[in-house]
Amino acid sequence: MTASQTPTKKRILTGDRPTGQLHLGHYVGSLQNRVKLQHEYETYILIADVQALTDNFETPEMLRANIREVVLDYLAVGLDPKLCAFVVQSLVPEIAELTIYYLNLVTLSRLERNPTVKDEMRQKGMGDDVRMGFLCYPISQVADITAFGAHLVPVGNDQRPMIEQTREIVQRFNQLYGEVLTLPDGLYGEFGRLPGTDGQAKMGKSLGNAISLADDEATVTKKVMSMFTDPNRIRGTEPGNIEGNPVFTYHDAFNPDKERVAELKELYQKGGAQENGKPILGDVQVKRELATVLNAFLEPMRQRRAEFARDSDYVWDVVRDGTARGRQCAGEVMEGVRSAMKIDYPIE
Ligand code: ATP
Ligand code: MG
Repeated sequence: MTASQTPTKKRILTGDRPTGQLHLGHYVGSLQNRVKLQHEYETYILIADVQALTDNFETPEMLRANIREVVLDYLAVGLDPKLCAFVVQSLVPEIAELTIYYLNLVTLSRLERNPTVKDEMRQKGMGDDVRMGFLCYPISQVADITAFGAHLVPVGNDQRPMIEQTREIVQRFNQLYGEVLTLPDGLYGEFGRLPGTDGQAKMGKSLGNAISLADDEATVTKKVMSMFTDPNRIRGTEPGNIEGNPVFTYHDAFNPDKERVAELKELYQKGGAQENGKPILGDVQVKRELATVLNAFLEPMRQRRAEFARDSDYVWDVVRDGTARGRQCAGEVMEGVRSAMKIDYPIE
């Protein structure tokens, strides 16, 4: 087969806000799928600094350091910069341009109905101080996805409303101007949304309840030992609840020994004391085993991260190269959009 006959790969677009180091929630929600699919798809990974500014515009200096941290996390989990373009969002002006056009295709009430945006406003205590940039960020996400002509978007399931919004706008655009935009599908981590160490429904970088992929062994152990469990189980001899108990959720997600997990669950739910009066299975034991599992899982990542961090230029080299590839791709898509909208004026 000659190069011109090689079937072009379908594309992936996904990304993260550079608001802190990536955590276990990112791993199960999205990173795992990215690593798996990077050989099969042409992959663009957006470092969403413009979106991060929508709720951090007063502290823009945080972005630079966090871009580096996020890229080190990508390299540590095994994303290959030759297969995946790591693209800085603010350096792709086509995304801003598309956002403006798409804003005409959505109503204010539709934006206000987005359940993820509503949750985030509440979590972040925005009250009445809701900025237009924040309310409209789902539309900027539509631009992110379509600027790269993505077919597939591997994300955590908190992003479902964003994918729905994207599909609505793509369909509306194509109906109005012609079939130019690619209609994408979401791909959600099989594990759903990972709860925080505090038992909150979501582990989040900005929520202070995350175990970061880069945390050292002692930090992981400390975070696990202070985790929320079953609030009604005062003594380890009482039967405990595993539903909504994040210690067991993490065992399910990360412990490769499924038999042991089943055994732990059974003993925990039964409760009971040994002959010396001590619990058959106390919270401390379940947590100790979890800390061991998580540390074994994270150790190879920590080692890779430390290797990549040694060369201080490497991260920026990879980002420079990925952003150039991203701009090329978005530029081509933009030409099609301008032509479909008949705003490709004959002016050089
Ligand atoms: P922030 O608190 O700044 O919003 P975040 O932790 O929510 O940060 P994002 O950068 O907003 O992280 O999300 C990046 C990707 O990771 C998205 O696809 C999101 O769905 C996924 N993700 C984030 N947190 C979780 C989680 N707890 N469980 C599963 N997926 C998650
Ligand atoms: Mg988020």
